[in-house]
Amino acid sequence: MTLLLAPRLSRLHAPTLTTLPSAIAANVERVRSTTDARIMAVVKADGYGHGAVAVATAAVAAGAEWLGVTDAADAAELRDAGLDVPILAWLNPAGVDAVQVSRDRVDVAVGSVEELRQLAADAMTPVRVHLHMDTGMSRGGCPVEDWAELLRVARAAQGRIEVVGVMGHLPRADEADPRANTAAVLRMRHARDAVLRAGYGPLLVHLGATAGALTDPSTHFDLVRVGAGLVGIDPSGTVSLDGASRLTASVVHSSLVRAGTSVGYGETYVTRHETNLSVIGVGYADGIPRELSEGAGVEIGGSRHPIVGRVSMDQIVVDTGDRAFPRGATATLFGPEGGAVPSVQEWARWAQTIPHTIVTGIGPRVQRSRA
Ligand SMILES: *Cc1c(COP(=O)(O)O)cnc(C)c1O
Repeated sequence: MTLLLAPRLSRLHAPTLTTLPSAIAANVERVRSTTDARIMAVVKADGYGHGAVAVATAAVAAGAEWLGVTDAADAAELRDAGLDVPILAWLNPAGVDAVQVSRDRVDVAVGSVEELRQLAADAMTPVRVHLHMDTGMSRGGCPVEDWAELLRVARAAQGRIEVVGVMGHLPRADEADPRANTAAVLRMRHARDAVLRAGYGPLLVHLGATAGALTDPSTHFDLVRVGAGLVGIDPSGTVSLDGASRLTASVVHSSLVRAGTSVGYGETYVTRHETNLSVIGVGYADGIPRELSEGAGVEIGGSRHPIVGRVSMDQIVVDTGDRAFPRGATATLFGPEGGAVPSVQEWARWAQTIPHTIVTGIGPRVQRSRA
């Protein structure tokens, strides 16, 4: 008997974030066309939510020569995946495990005298260090007035600390105006010159991230650290890159409702006429922003349909008007296609945030796959 019913049953697919390696490759090539500097693929926060190994693998295949992470411990996963290029770790919120960085061949960025002393004390084998100058963020990096002391400590720790690079970070590159970077670039040059005078070299000097790489050659030095750009986000908003992921989920329930039907918690939305509603099984626990402005929508069946009522923890409701979609129909929440398919940038506007928080916010229940 069930066999007779089988054709009418539709299978749902789990909410899925699909990473698109070809888009990552295209974005690396786009950066490559703007600079002769080496490219470090920054894959912190699990590759901006796209999977650190997936993003790193695609970026290295496309010519990125370095990988960057915020926590040295994240390098283990990259090494296990067979990625062999140099890796730099900055921040290291849990401290640096000297044995692990030596095993996984991780360079460590150090921005304070205290950190450098600790690393020197822990080092069993020489640790490769990039001295991190605060170029205007006050968020990590060594204050200008401590730079000479940092160099003295590095010299005293020779044999355990090997200075191979100098790093800074730009506070205002997203303005896409080179004048906004002038002070940081000057500070970077002074920091580099002091390290060279102290007898170190050759040095790998690096300052710019995606926005600097795309908009201001004076920030490029020897290497640019590109994270957002890999996954299609240009913080300067001046360059169109390829979105590197697609978020899809199934319609789990559909119904035809009468005019005057309220939808969701708080009854904030009431249908004005008879219409079709589709429930999609993703909510704020999956990273769908709860504060969405009117105009937010998803693609189903080739058209954009508005999200109505409040975003729930596990679901959203879409008003599909005259069109009824069966359980199992695929909704695309975002993707690179354009047109009816929303972009990550559109989601950021609807939630009054930046695209970064949309992609890094996609929750652990959402399955990951690679195209
Ligand atoms: C996140 C980060 C980057 C990458 O920045 P994007 O704008 O995402 O390219 C580079 N350097 C440092 C220090 C960072 O924290």
